[in-house]
Amino acid sequence: MRNNRSSRNQGRWNASGIDEMFCNVCGRRRLIHTALTDTNPGRRFLSCPNSGCNHFTWIDPLMCDQVVQIIPGLLKNLNKMEAQLKRKTGRERKLWICLVLSWLVVGIWFEL
Ligand SMILES: [Zn+2]
Repeated sequence: MRNNRSSRNQGRWNASGIDEMFCNVCGRRRLIHTALTDTNPGRRFLSCPNSGCNHFTWIDPLMCDQVVQIIPGLLKNLNKMEAQLKRKTGRERKLWICLVLSWLVVGIWFEL
């Protein structure tokens, strides 16, 4: 399954020299992206921001089949765990609010 999502990063990358940062076709400064596809998970690439150019170069070498199979599963588990954590954090906040309100009610009850 191919997924066209990618994260955008204009960070400092000069492993191959500054010439690599500029497009060989149109001369514009290329952007570093990280592929989030199932076939190239986490693999970085340079692409030209000029939509008519579409010049594209991989930064990272090709990954072995085992890594390509393992990383998507790890990313899915990570996303699932982050969603669970978010739900549990929201539930914990509600429980704290209930606890504080119950203390207030008990405090008011004993004051009267
Ligand atoms: Zn270009």
